[in-house]
Amino acid sequence: MSIAENLRRLRADIPDKVSLIAVSKYQPVESLRQAYDAGQRLFGENRARELALKQGQLPPDIEWHFIGTLQTNKVKLIAPFVHTIHSIDSLNLLREVDRQACKHKRLIRVLLQLHLAQESTKHGLTPEECQALLRIFRAEEYPSVRIDGLMCMASFTDDTERIRQEFRFLRTLFNTFRTDFFPDIPHFRHLSMGMSHDYPIALEEGATMLRIGTAIFAAPHSSSEIPL
Ligand SMILES: *Cc1c(COP(=O)(O)O)cnc(C)c1O
Repeated sequence: MSIAENLRRLRADIPDKVSLIAVSKYQPVESLRQAYDAGQRLFGENRARELALKQGQLPPDIEWHFIGTLQTNKVKLIAPFVHTIHSIDSLNLLREVDRQACKHKRLIRVLLQLHLAQESTKHGLTPEECQALLRIFRAEEYPSVRIDGLMCMASFTDDTERIRQEFRFLRTLFNTFRTDFFPDIPHFRHLSMGMSHDYPIALEEGATMLRIGTAIFAAPHSSSEIPL
């Protein structure tokens, strides 16, 4: 199946108001260009250097989303152009994003990443940490960032009920935080959840942004696939 065909089938499946972010990590620039030529404009990457390299080689009307773990010393690589950072997990990181965005006279949209999955390898804030961060956060002290919502990765499991519970929990947290910290603030409205294998569940549970890689680009190339 071609990239264009994969995109066409996904778009037919996804409501217009939901953003489809093509996760292009490890993919060669040619694959991103094929997706671009098929009309895709939102791309997600999880490494700062790779994102900066690809951004320089592709058209300027792409909206770039950063979805991976971000070290504070790498923020400057993506600050000149990144649209949304999905993986904010500390006030310290938020401060650095604000500082770098300010240098470039830009506004960078961010999402707070929650850790709700079973696997300890996954990153993000616990619900308690997230609440504590929002309590301390003063928007006027961070004029160059804007918190647009929450992000999570569900557990990697075949247990669809568990996945559904995690997505539903993110939605519940989102509603609580909106009431407590963002009343009448319309930009706090995004739930970034759902990947290739679980996006239908995420849609049912209220996702506004899907991050989909494999179902668009097929599996990233690995050495085991190269015939010897
Ligand atoms: C790789 C990745 C995705 C996409 O995963 P697929 O299973 O390839 O769709 C989504 N979100 C994050 C944070 C990722 O690292």
